[in-house]
Amino acid sequence: MISDTIAAISTPLGEGGIAMIRISGPDAVSIVDTIFYAKQKCSEMKTHTVQYGFIKESDTGLKVDEVLVTVMLAPRSFTKENVVEISCHGGLIAVKKTLELLLQNGARLAEPGEFTKRAFLNGRIDLTQAEAVIDLIRSKSDRAYSVAMKQVEGTLSDKIVNLRNLIIELMAHIEVNIDYPEHDVEELTYAFISDKCNQAIQIIDELLKNANQGKILREGIVTAIIGRPNVGKSSLLNLLARENKAIVTDIPGTTRDVIEEYVTVGGVPLKLLDTAGLRETSDVVEKIGVERSKESLKEAELVLFVVNQNEPIHVDEMKLFQEIKNKQVILVLNKTDLPSKIDLNQLKNQFNEEQIVQMSIKNEQGQSELEKVIANMFFDGRIESTDSSYVSNVRHIHLLNKAKRSLEEALKGTYDIPIDMLQIDIRNAWEDLGEVIGDSVSESLIDQIFSQFCLGK
Ligand code: GDP
Ligand code: ZN
Repeated sequence: MISDTIAAISTPLGEGGIAMIRISGPDAVSIVDTIFYAKQKCSEMKTHTVQYGFIKESDTGLKVDEVLVTVMLAPRSFTKENVVEISCHGGLIAVKKTLELLLQNGARLAEPGEFTKRAFLNGRIDLTQAEAVIDLIRSKSDRAYSVAMKQVEGTLSDKIVNLRNLIIELMAHIEVNIDYPEHDVEELTYAFISDKCNQAIQIIDELLKNANQGKILREGIVTAIIGRPNVGKSSLLNLLARENKAIVTDIPGTTRDVIEEYVTVGGVPLKLLDTAGLRETSDVVEKIGVERSKESLKEAELVLFVVNQNEPIHVDEMKLFQEIKNKQVILVLNKTDLPSKIDLNQLKNQFNEEQIVQMSIKNEQGQSELEKVIANMFFDGRIESTDSSYVSNVRHIHLLNKAKRSLEEALKGTYDIPIDMLQIDIRNAWEDLGEVIGDSVSESLIDQIFSQFCLGK
């Protein structure tokens, strides 16, 4: 049983107007009451109501901030515990001071993710929903956001629960057969088992089909923009960054402190590599453009290879063509506003027609073509509308694959393997699926998952 009360600032720290402190645990109300001064004490407030008042230092009477306090009593709160939220107005220093007072009066500073962890441990949400909260915080595009939102709402959980029910039914059926073998219904049972296993596998396949897309929406396609100096790489970057407002991720307190640059193209987030190099316009940097290109190539999942079609293909470019052979490449033939000096037919020996996009980046022409090509490469041409519940999390993908393998194993034995042996594989599948929603996970895994959160969530 959780017995202590935690507190943290749950809005990003910054210059913003309002900051919120969240307190959760059995003593949330009484701790806030030690520093809250208003018409009513928190302990007198009705649940789910708000009250205006002041935070004061109780010994000196010094006024710290003007606040709104919301009380949400257990179990009708995010953590299923008593929760008090204090909205502070007085800026950073007042917020910190208020938090400090709460800590002095018996609250403990929450660890990253601890509120969500409590919601999970208290049965308010399952593990997929908790993980989706992380995704929500980090989502880089509207579409990734709505995918995560679906998961928070429990769409994926529902599917997994249904799948597990199907398997439980199968297990029960086998159990009966093991307990009452004299009925000799083995034939029938084999048919039943293979039928149910096939059904379950089909559902898993359906979930996994979208998994790669889900992962892309969640994490972005790692993309390198490469090419010789002056072909238009920086212009392309600027165009993409201007036209497609990506949600920039700069989350203080997360394990990833590097600020990454994202743009979205047709709703697909691209995680751009080496944008610092591209933003640099000094000659020195541009001269080492090709070397730099090779460097960022290593990591890239998608290569946007920019070529100036107003010049013949350069020997450096021929060399780069070789280096990117095993990558997903889009050849951007830029500067179509100028006369063409390249041999398109010769290029078609190196690239498929579908990989080539003609653009005049300066005139902002060709973006929609680029979008289409990217959609084709990564989404078979169609980016699903927002109502789909993607499996996007590698942990989930791994477990689904594992469950599928167990079911296939069981399926293989539905001719000659004793039925109680099949039960082992089927039970394994059931347990793996349970792990997806957090039904049977180890404490260390839970710790690992929740440690990815930022403070105050
Ligand atoms: P980078 O060295 O590859 O990053 O190339 P830049 O983006 O810095 O562009 C080099 C030059 O090409 C700049 O003067 C751009 O204005 C120009 N440029 C970029 N795109 C186009 C285009 O579509 N048409 C024309 N005519 N010029 C372009
Ligand atoms: Zn540049």
